Amino acid sequence: MSSDAAPTPMMAQYIEIKAANPDCLLFYRMGDFYELFFDDAVEASRALGITLTKRGKHLGEDIPMAGVPVVSADDYLQKLIALGHRVAVCEQVEDPAEAKKRGSKSVVKRDVVRLVTPGTITEEALLEPGRANYLMTLARLGGGENPSYALAWADLSTGLFRTAEVSRDRLEAEIAAVEPSEIVVAEPVFHAPDMQPVLRRFGRTARPEPQTFFDGATAEEKICRFFQVTTLEGLGRFSRVELSAAAALIAYLGKTQLSARPMLQRPARVSQGSIMEIDPATRASLEITRTLAGRRQGSLLATIDRTVTGAGARLLAGRLSAPLTDPETIGSRQDSLAFFLDEPDLRRNLRKALAGLPDGERALSRLALQRGGPRDLAGIRDCLEAAIAIGEMLPAEMPAELEAARGDIAALPRDVAAALREALTDAPPPFKRDGGFVRSGAIPALDEARALGENSRKVIAELEARYAAETGIRNLRIKYNNVLGYFVETGESQAKTLMSSEWAETFRHRQTMASAMRFSTQELAGLESRITGAASEALSLELKCFDELAGAVLAEAEALQRGAEALAVLDVAAAFAELAVEGDWTRPVVDSSLAFQIEGGRHPVVEAALKAGSGSPFVANDCDLSPPAGGDKGALWLLTGPNMGGKSTFLRQNALIAVLAQIGAFVPATRVHLGVVDRLFSRVGASDDLAEGRSTFMVEMVETAAILNQAGPRALVILDEIGRGTATYDGLSIAFATVEHLHEVNGCRALFATHFHEMTALGKRLTRMKNTTMRVKEYKGDVILLHEVTSGVADRSYGIQVAKLAGLPAAVVERARHVLSELERGGSQARRTAFIDDLPLFSAALRKPDAATGAGDERHAALAAALNALDPDTMSPRAALDEIYRLKQVATSGQVGDGRS
Ligand code: ATP
Repeated sequence: MSSDAAPTPMMAQYIEIKAANPDCLLFYRMGDFYELFFDDAVEASRALGITLTKRGKHLGEDIPMAGVPVVSADDYLQKLIALGHRVAVCEQVEDPAEAKKRGSKSVVKRDVVRLVTPGTITEEALLEPGRANYLMTLARLGGGENPSYALAWADLSTGLFRTAEVSRDRLEAEIAAVEPSEIVVAEPVFHAPDMQPVLRRFGRTARPEPQTFFDGATAEEKICRFFQVTTLEGLGRFSRVELSAAAALIAYLGKTQLSARPMLQRPARVSQGSIMEIDPATRASLEITRTLAGRRQGSLLATIDRTVTGAGARLLAGRLSAPLTDPETIGSRQDSLAFFLDEPDLRRNLRKALAGLPDGERALSRLALQRGGPRDLAGIRDCLEAAIAIGEMLPAEMPAELEAARGDIAALPRDVAAALREALTDAPPPFKRDGGFVRSGAIPALDEARALGENSRKVIAELEARYAAETGIRNLRIKYNNVLGYFVETGESQAKTLMSSEWAETFRHRQTMASAMRFSTQELAGLESRITGAASEALSLELKCFDELAGAVLAEAEALQRGAEALAVLDVAAAFAELAVEGDWTRPVVDSSLAFQIEGGRHPVVEAALKAGSGSPFVANDCDLSPPAGGDKGALWLLTGPNMGGKSTFLRQNALIAVLAQIGAFVPATRVHLGVVDRLFSRVGASDDLAEGRSTFMVEMVETAAILNQAGPRALVILDEIGRGTATYDGLSIAFATVEHLHEVNGCRALFATHFHEMTALGKRLTRMKNTTMRVKEYKGDVILLHEVTSGVADRSYGIQVAKLAGLPAAVVERARHVLSELERGGSQARRTAFIDDLPLFSAALRKPDAATGAGDERHAALAAALNALDPDTMSPRAALDEIYRLKQVATSGQVGDGRS
């Protein structure tokens, strides 16, 4: 092998570590940088816009290299994670001095200490405050006909850990509800053809890992070991497939976090049926947590979020993604809200105490992972103090949910709060390695070491003055650098004095610079060792203090976690109360009936948008889908009305009111009685799914099929304009049959909006169907939309009037009117075709009447001249009226007349 081809020992080490982590970018620590080499360097430089350089050769080729400073590594990690990369962080795991002892050529030992993946990040800078960051595992047990599936998901940054057994057809929906950042699937399952439709939706979020992670036989043991228990009995009852998912999650954490042990709560089971089922299409179309364009802004979540802490925002988002079905639990959340509604002062004070608090949950998890700094300790201190103060604010009698929160707050370790308060400075620096976070007065030995350091600095200043006086060199300075330590510096000419026999003994020459000379003295060396000794003594005392405090915090981790959750519960309850006051929302009656009675309902997002925009009021509307007296099947409202009349808004608002009611919030309506909805289906608006190879119409039909096959008696179904993407009669027939099926077979509460006015005839046959319509007023050929839902049927859609409002060219509107009136004369298909053949060519109708004469231009110019000549400020109303008559005349004839003749 030529010398070019043999890798240096360091490169050999790099290559070995990289080979063990082939699917990650390797951040290889070298001094103050993480360096990337070879393809990683190329990839990172492209992704991060950092310079690509080279370092040495491998197999005769230059080695590409790119680096990021350790201090700003978080920013780069964030970008790489967002782009879907995973990063292996490789640190020096011994002191370089140790390596040197083995020989001058030996390489510092390095090891990967952590894999940074989207689902396992904990850094403040990498996380969104109000959003949980879930790692999920998907387990499948039993091949054959009937495999069982389970999901486990955990937020490493807060410790939340859940499992759920899920049926095959609900998998996609349940994953979408959690919105995980990373989904780990056993290799064979990941590649199984029948899983492709499910996993494809989640793209690069899903990744394969070894089947052994999911091994059912060792699952229980893995979980017990992690939670340091001997049996799972105390943790609750889990099915085998759930245990497999939970164990895989723990195994994956082992793989990515290596020696660090994340702080996870014991897993809690989400039982089937306890949550309102909302499939991904419905979730998307109702824009619950994000809009169809993928943004949070404009979603229901963003509109209703009045929380003031990150943990509160996360709890709210979690609740909104999983509305409950148990009226009792819903009622208990409503009680908490109502309590804060009646206590405006307490609510205000609570929100003030919570606002701006650091994220205690996440600080705690970083400390558990050995990634915490002094600011995390301070964050926990601040949260603890705020919690204790809040505990004292709360009155004696409160609803059950708040009582439980109070209990958790009361159980917070006050001694830990006191220890943190006494030891830490008010606003400590971010890194413990720099010291400076322990309050003076907290540790006597530290105070002494600091005083020594301080004092020595004073001594140095005195020494400088003395040397200057004794040698007569006025600009003699004592300086410091990392190479020489403390030294005396003078100009070149004065240096001769110091090198003279009188001073040469005291001042030993060390370095000659361009215009200065540097010397050391024994006194200085002595002082220096005192100063550095004192500094390292101080730092080691601070680090010891940090470890003790972190130890004390982690010993109480469970209590602290519960306390943080309690604060989030208070935040959400008070935020909902705030929202209810602001929007004049009311408490819905939620029970196990099949009622669906909404009076004065409003769409929270559209209402907020109107308020922020034009300021025009939102028109409230009623909706009643309750089964007619004594029946057990819900009613169906068929809604017709003009384009832009507000049909989609009305449909959605009723679904959103059900969602809000079942998360325990108040609702934008004057009175609501709701029997819990167990499944919500919404098919609103059309969308292509070209990636899946499905056209708009195909997607619509697939979703409609799912609804008709799955909606049970407790479901709420919302269908908007089914059958639009095909020929009129095909669409109409499908819409017809769908409504009949919903009414006769599904028997669920349903809203159906359509422009097929022929369907209103069904009202005569289907006893629980009611025809409703959006009211309009016609005024001089234009249509005024009232946004009001009433009984009855629309006679037309006013599509042409709305098109005119939208600015369709006047000629097109005119032409459309003409075609419509001919079509409305009716007759057979053959007659209509003949009529269309007979119509004069479109281009003929379009021809501008004045085009040949140029008269239009003349009129335009005359009109402009007449308008310019007016001075409205000086005109009487009578004169203004005369002018209008005159201008009209100009507009028709191009001649300037004399007013009202
Ligand atoms: P199309 O049939 O054309 O799809 P649509 O009947 O479904 O129309 P929407 O999309 O629901 O109409 O509403 C159109 C607009 O009308 C909304 O964006 C909103 O600005 C306004 N609007 C709807 N409902 C109301 C209401 N109740 N009060 C005030 N404004 C409303």
